[in-house]
Amino acid sequence: MADRYSQLVNNPIGKLVAKNVGLPQPVSLDRYQPGGPLVKGRVLAGAAPGGRLGDAVEKVLADANVDRADGETYKALVFDATGIQSPAQLDELRAFFSPTIRQVERSGRAIVLGTPPQDAKTPAERIAQRALEGFVRSVGKEIRKGSTANLVYVAPGAEGQLASTLRFLLSPRSAYVSAQVIRIGDGGPVPTLDWEQPLAGKIALVTGASRGIGAAIAATLARDGAHVVGLDVPPLADDLKAVAEGLGGSWLTADITAADAPKLIAEHLKREHGGVDVVVHNAGITRDKTLGRMDEERWNSVIQVNVASIQRINDALLEGKLLNDGARVVCVSSISGIAGNAGQTNYATSKAGVIGLVDAYAPLLAERKATINAVAPGFIETQMTAKIPFATREAGRRLNSLSQGGLPIDVAETIAWFASPASGGVNGNVVRVCGQSLLGA
Ligand code: NAD
Repeated sequence: MADRYSQLVNNPIGKLVAKNVGLPQPVSLDRYQPGGPLVKGRVLAGAAPGGRLGDAVEKVLADANVDRADGETYKALVFDATGIQSPAQLDELRAFFSPTIRQVERSGRAIVLGTPPQDAKTPAERIAQRALEGFVRSVGKEIRKGSTANLVYVAPGAEGQLASTLRFLLSPRSAYVSAQVIRIGDGGPVPTLDWEQPLAGKIALVTGASRGIGAAIAATLARDGAHVVGLDVPPLADDLKAVAEGLGGSWLTADITAADAPKLIAEHLKREHGGVDVVVHNAGITRDKTLGRMDEERWNSVIQVNVASIQRINDALLEGKLLNDGARVVCVSSISGIAGNAGQTNYATSKAGVIGLVDAYAPLLAERKATINAVAPGFIETQMTAKIPFATREAGRRLNSLSQGGLPIDVAETIAWFASPASGGVNGNVVRVCGQSLLGA
């Protein structure tokens, strides 16, 4: 639901006032509706000469029946920059985007595809490919009208892994993901999927599932076909049960910091389902205080819930061989873990630790044809953020390129993309769901 200010500036008088006084003008973002088209409008694709992703892009657009006709405006621009070998050739970006960027419609997309700089064959190519980041982040700040810009680095040999990521970025599922750099490597064979039900037959554990972002994650994974096992603390059993049963899923209560919780979770998954395909570590807490007033209890509880318990649960699942082939582990970090935040030394430490955890486990899981990634939400409209004092809340909400807070569904859709069986090439990524927040950018 849009916040009050967004509702106000989206009526004709409010829009006029906001424009004349120079106030932020958040536009209503397109969000995915089941059964809707991948892209609601035309897509223009271009490439620098010698690019290697043209076929992969064309296949995604053709499979999704995307409208490729020339027009006055476009919903999305896609540019294959893998052919750019030197700084001078970066002009190919300008030549494609300069005449077309103002033709992008509301809630539109600019997507650039490149080669990971470390895979470049020459220093000149490495410079040019690294330069794409600055380009995309600036486009994100210029593009307006609720549109986004993102960069995908596709490793040589991983061209066949592009579909799930390109589909996610093109679609309204990525409404609040902007200025991100996503890396795709070789994730092995890509299964043929029903894109409306990619998780059919899969078991998904979601911690902290009784409310807020966790409830949205549970609903989204269930929508995509998964049987969701929701987990939350015993005092929230009634809420948890209502969420899980409403989705045709099941539930389990545990305090994830309890000494026996990893064993209990592992045993439950083994007994009831024989293993697990998707694990979403969403449970998290804040216990804010400035460092000078930070007591041991506040510090340790946040570290234990937000990061230590994730490691313990992962280890129990790995030791019990309960992660099925192609399993997807997704963690919830935060932009506080990237940018830091006054009053949140404990929380930011824990959420930066989550990023370290993704780095540490990614190679381990790759050996088992599994992946681990994290989302780092920015300002998301939840009960938690509704309690923030008005001025701080308004600042949090507006200080991003989309001038609005995200919704729990935006985090959930990003997690669903990581969770897809077609996302095997997406491993070790941390993707911010923050509308290009100015914090830590
Ligand atoms: P929330 O407080 O509404 O939900 C968190 C859930 O985790 C609750 O259901 C809670 O009971 C559960 N939980 C907490 N401790 C637990 C424990 N020891 N064992 C089991 N379950 C436990 O918060 P939310 O806003 O929905 O946040 C979800 C996640 O997103 C958290 O990890 C949070 O840090 C992260 N996040 C939120 C925002 C935001 O703007 N709301 C921004 C960045 C990151």
